[in-house]
Amino acid sequence: MLEKGYLMNEFSLKADLHVHTIASGHAYSTVAELAREAAAKGLKAFAFTDHGPAMPGGPHRYYFGNLRVLPHIIEGVKVIRGVELNILNEAGEVDLPPRYLSMLDLAWAGLHTLCFDGSGEGSYTRAALNALKNPYIDGLVHPGNPDFPLEAEEVVRQAKKYNKVLEINNSSFHVRHGSLGPCRQFASLAVKHGAMVVVNSDAHFASDIGRSEKALEVLAEAGVPEKMVINCSMQKIEQLLQARLDRIKNLEGR
Ligand SMILES: [Zn+2]
Ligand SMILES: [Zn+2]
Repeated sequence: MLEKGYLMNEFSLKADLHVHTIASGHAYSTVAELAREAAAKGLKAFAFTDHGPAMPGGPHRYYFGNLRVLPHIIEGVKVIRGVELNILNEAGEVDLPPRYLSMLDLAWAGLHTLCFDGSGEGSYTRAALNALKNPYIDGLVHPGNPDFPLEAEEVVRQAKKYNKVLEINNSSFHVRHGSLGPCRQFASLAVKHGAMVVVNSDAHFASDIGRSEKALEVLAEAGVPEKMVINCSMQKIEQLLQARLDRIKNLEGR
């Protein structure tokens, strides 16, 4: 089981779906180290989601093209191969082409300094709305980042419409100053519109995997029920991964 402090209120996280390896260029653990730590904390699965190639120091696209060499289970923990894409512009374009995205189990997208060409709430919101439409993208990470203010209700409606996930990112409360207000707003709006959420550590070092205490506090305050939190249920995680496969299959069958 997770250490005391990782299980809060009625929430019981089964997996962490957003962590980084050394391949991101500014993170410091390997896949094997993350798996060991996930197992020690009683997690059933984790997704390593390294930054896309547009991030300074990020991996080349070939890194994402060769992930099939990894075992599906390491240390008894399911290993989900993902990416944290950079949204590049208002059109919602991202930094891996479909050929590579179709090889991955999971793709989050987010707005990051140095990677996004645009400025202002309208621009960030258009970018987020367009990214959420993309069938290769499963959800939006750290939408509560105060560096990229979004028209929150529009974004939540879009996530609901396209059956995509919105993240409450635990690292935001430590590294993105001013995240609390926007994250509370996203959590409340997710309840209002019935949009699914995911709670992730965004760990850049193995010992932080599964850390989610502040994010869970925000969810509890906003009245988000456990059934709306994707990673409180392995069944919901499997459904998320299957929905992605189905969307891609539909595209390719066209
Ligand atoms: Zn990020
Ligand atoms: Zn991240």
